[in-house]
Amino acid sequence: HLGPAQTGLITAHFGRLLEVEALQAPWQGQRIKCHLRTNLDTLVTGDQVVWRPQVQDDKLVSGVIEALSERSSLLERPDMRGQMRPVAANIDQILLVVAPEPTPFANLIDRYLVAAEVTGIQAVLVLNKTDLLDQHPQVQALLAAYQALGYPLITTSTQTADGLQNLQANLVDKVSVFVGQSGVGKSSLINALLPDVDLKVSELSTQTRKGVHTTTTARLFHFPSGGQLIDSPGIREFALWHMDAQAIFYGFREFRPLIGQCKFRNCSHQQEPGCALQAAVDTGKIQASRVQSYFHILATANEYAHLQQRLQ
Ligand code: GDP
Ligand code: ZN
Repeated sequence: HLGPAQTGLITAHFGRLLEVEALQAPWQGQRIKCHLRTNLDTLVTGDQVVWRPQVQDDKLVSGVIEALSERSSLLERPDMRGQMRPVAANIDQILLVVAPEPTPFANLIDRYLVAAEVTGIQAVLVLNKTDLLDQHPQVQALLAAYQALGYPLITTSTQTADGLQNLQANLVDKVSVFVGQSGVGKSSLINALLPDVDLKVSELSTQTRKGVHTTTTARLFHFPSGGQLIDSPGIREFALWHMDAQAIFYGFREFRPLIGQCKFRNCSHQQEPGCALQAAVDTGKIQASRVQSYFHILATANEYAHLQQRLQ
């Protein structure tokens, strides 16, 4: 029979079954695969739900999810047809990991930051591999420009353990995701913070168990010192090629006060007279490199839109 309704947290997705972590006694902390009431929308990892346990001989054997609690944020990705699909919910912060190696590019950092701004989730820069900074002195100047825009910066090294406690303290009471270019040290950081889970190993084993639908679902983990991580290969590559021009402009946080300020309503911010964006560059209020990034991201977004049209 079904026990009384209680609150739960979605921690993974296995085909049509959702893994729910019980948030209330007597099963608090236990994870159980649950079915979903058919009238509910797609649920994702990080969602808070109301569910009812199915109990047999005093044991929790499964459950039914009956309601979804309101989301504070939602990470979405376009599928192959360009349709937005939810990936994870209730994320509090996006940790954008960069490192002296591979060389960080402002344009790529801007992409991640714009995508974060559009979701409304706080972005925090994590400079990993500080042990390599001596050989790459230009990296700190690059990141100082983002600090000037108001983005917090945390520095770490998984090699020397420098800054790991500070990072750990920042994770408490929040749901975080790690994003960034391949090779910057995301797995290394996560493995250092979550000693019980070997993420590389768990990814590998899912590939060999294809039939079990354990594939690339986002999973929720608890950090031993507090806070939660949601992680999946897709989330790590989180980027923004699906956004429209207005969203991209908005995503450059220092451009935002200029919305509606250009002389022409349809200003492309390139050659037009009375362009507020170009004026801000001329007076040094906005960095020219950020405007270049804006045009670059816009161009790639358009390429993607054309590709979508051709495929339809
Ligand atoms: P991911 O692709 O972002 O998950 O990066 P990985 O965690 O797989 O790390 C990529 C490479 O960087 C590996 O060879 C790691 O050993 C190395 N690495 C990770 N963290 C550090 C660090 O703090 N310092 C140095 N020197 N190397 C690191
Ligand atoms: Zn303009």
